Amino acid sequence: MAECVVAVDLGGTSIKAGLVDRRGTLLHRRRVPTAREDGDEAVLRQLVRVVTDMIDAATERDLVPLAAGVAVLGIVDERHGRVITASNLGWRDLPVGEYLEQRIAVPVALGHDVRVGAWAEWALGAGRDVADVLFLAVGTGVSAGLVLDGRLHSGGGYAGELGHVVVAPGGRACGCGNRGCVETVASAAAIADRYAELSGESISTAEVAARAARGGRLAAQVWGEAVEALATALAAAVNLLAPEVIIVGGGLGGAGSAVLDPLRDRLSEHLTFQRRPRVVAPELGDLAGCIGAGLLAWQRLDRQVRP
Ligand SMILES: [Zn+2]
Repeated sequence: MAECVVAVDLGGTSIKAGLVDRRGTLLHRRRVPTAREDGDEAVLRQLVRVVTDMIDAATERDLVPLAAGVAVLGIVDERHGRVITASNLGWRDLPVGEYLEQRIAVPVALGHDVRVGAWAEWALGAGRDVADVLFLAVGTGVSAGLVLDGRLHSGGGYAGELGHVVVAPGGRACGCGNRGCVETVASAAAIADRYAELSGESISTAEVAARAARGGRLAAQVWGEAVEALATALAAAVNLLAPEVIIVGGGLGGAGSAVLDPLRDRLSEHLTFQRRPRVVAPELGDLAGCIGAGLLAWQRLDRQVRP
């Protein structure tokens, strides 16, 4: 019988689960809403249920599930299987890996949603032909996943917090306690808030993007500020890490050329002698986290996937 692993991407609003074969192909998947209104313990129990259901789904398809990979948002210490903080879920210093392994019949690997997304794009998507990848997720928050010399860089769980680089000193208050972070200018909520502040009109971030594309003056200004904040932080990352490819994903990444074109231009303005990265769209869409969780599970079994 063919082997597979269970892959789960736990987000603040939904859980994406799937079965991933040894080539990184997603064989079967489902999505359920996250039960976070019922408390942090409820989400843990739901996680056990989802993984157990996927193990059953594998068996029904004559597949042998060998391990499970679970990707979580927040500050995640992969090595020790601990979630240090996941504010969307109300989790603080929780040994999620151990909790799951005690209740699930297969070994469990815990990972970070954006980092495993970066890894999946490096292994199978837009970064598959290079060694150094920066995956930028712009949505509710802003963060990055790094693959450097073909290795996922975690920094004990703290790497990739590009959203908290200060680009507007003394600017708007950020959820992290600082002021003027990238997230206060370029997250989806920040873009909508800034537009409302300037125009007195509350519209969605997607509508701000659409109006900017049609030449709306205020929308273009707000969109430009967000892009500049991202470009400034990315330029610092390029100087420090020299990624060959920057993959722009997350909700805002879905805006395609509306974000990629101006971001390429602004980033280019910041660079002179540096190795210039390609700035591209993701190839795995919003499934990168789920597929990456699967790759993590394969790695837990000492079988790294990159065809
Ligand atoms: Zn911050």
